[in-house]
Amino acid sequence: MDVKALKRLILVILACMLGAGLLYYGIIARPGADPELLKASTGLNRYRIAAVFDPEKAKLSCTQTVEYRNNHDVEFDRLYFHLYPNAFRDEKRVPFFADEKQKAYPNGFSPGWIDIQQIMVNGSPVEFGIGGYSDDILSIVLETPLKPGQVAKIDMVYTVKLPNCVGRFGYGRHTFNVTNWYPIACVYDHTGWNIDPYYPVGDPFYSDVANYQVEIRVPYDYTIAATGKAIKEKAEGDYKVLEFRALAVRDFAWIASRDFEVVSRSVDGITVYSYFLRGSRGGGEKALDCAAAAIEIFNRRFGKYPYSHLAVVQADFFIGGMEYPCLVMIDKSLYSEGQQWLEYVTVHETAHQWWYAVVGNDQIDEAWLDEALTEYSTILYYEDRYGEDVAKQVYNSVIVDGKCSYLQNYHVQGLKHMIAQPIYRFTDWLTYDLVVYGKGASLFNDLRQAAGHQKFYGILQRYYEDNKFKNATAAQLIRACEEVTGKSWDDFFKKRLKSLNW
Ligand SMILES: [Zn+2]
Repeated sequence: MDVKALKRLILVILACMLGAGLLYYGIIARPGADPELLKASTGLNRYRIAAVFDPEKAKLSCTQTVEYRNNHDVEFDRLYFHLYPNAFRDEKRVPFFADEKQKAYPNGFSPGWIDIQQIMVNGSPVEFGIGGYSDDILSIVLETPLKPGQVAKIDMVYTVKLPNCVGRFGYGRHTFNVTNWYPIACVYDHTGWNIDPYYPVGDPFYSDVANYQVEIRVPYDYTIAATGKAIKEKAEGDYKVLEFRALAVRDFAWIASRDFEVVSRSVDGITVYSYFLRGSRGGGEKALDCAAAAIEIFNRRFGKYPYSHLAVVQADFFIGGMEYPCLVMIDKSLYSEGQQWLEYVTVHETAHQWWYAVVGNDQIDEAWLDEALTEYSTILYYEDRYGEDVAKQVYNSVIVDGKCSYLQNYHVQGLKHMIAQPIYRFTDWLTYDLVVYGKGASLFNDLRQAAGHQKFYGILQRYYEDNKFKNATAAQLIRACEEVTGKSWDDFFKKRLKSLNW
């Protein structure tokens, strides 16, 4: 064999190895995937889930393999996973306040749950414990401690029951909202393991980015909107099996319906899909237009959205809007003609793709970090799209008059008025909305006044760039302010985050 032939052979072998690696991460099916996303996807936990969906019984039969990598500098002798569906099992413990239950369960209470049948670690069956406020935390004891850098392969078999509930998780007349549905690893951070329950206020979720491969078997007439991109579809009699892949996302959600129609548009190489229910085309097209415009604006203002698609989904959902990676669900009633809130809510949830999906944070202990910034980003959209006057009008009516002024006269004293506090200190949605969304957004407006327009965007770009695919804290936001402006912002944030007055 001559040297040239040997070189050619080596190149062929390298190309095959690269091909196998790319296939492993599903890249081949996604030409044009962001190179940064591919880089971010290395060394992450990996979830492979196969779910058989029975809409008649509202049940999912699942197998799941998690390759859990210890990316920390301590040994683990056990691992923890959230079992969010169990929060819906017992009527007394469901994650809704008393005055919301009628809206959440229009047909009366209906239980939802997850039943774990078997767990194996590295091929051997293991004992596991289930505990927490509503049996929503799974603890797996490892026979051999998992050292830093090591990977444990965890196989699970489980069944999920969706409740007849039109909150985030459950189903209504038209859609099955399959969100926070599978065992997802709890986050280990500087505070230790985060094993919070599914609180009734805020978005009580905190997770690390991971790679997902999810196979869903559904009756043929169902359409699925999902976090991942469908890369394969095969027919099996009256069923079809869809395979989705998603890299470096912090959760995987999907919504199924027999009544979806879809419109799509490409913006900056990203495909935006709007799934709407038959008869809601006007709203579906408006949601598409707003989400596409928002992506273009936020790409330019904050930094590029790294994923290939975003699905905006009209759903049986009574809480306005909710964000998941590459997927947002919107209350179906907002799609009716003349509804002013469809644009605001769609843009707000789209902004969460930057603040929550790409730059994550502990949404329990520092809920304001993504929520307040997302709320203010919505105002920035109005400014870029319709001009300063319109943005001022929206800011004044929604944030100043609608929330901050209201808060001034809202006679709840003490900690409830402080932006920087964990969600479980809030005992109702109204106070949470006024403080975290309203007062929180005004903090970012103040920051913009103080830093100046250009530096403000510089701060957001720096914060985005430095914390992509990670979980940030307030300290990282303050650091971005300091790096961009060259001065200390400790007092600015301390004063606003801890202030009780309004
Ligand atoms: Zn939000």
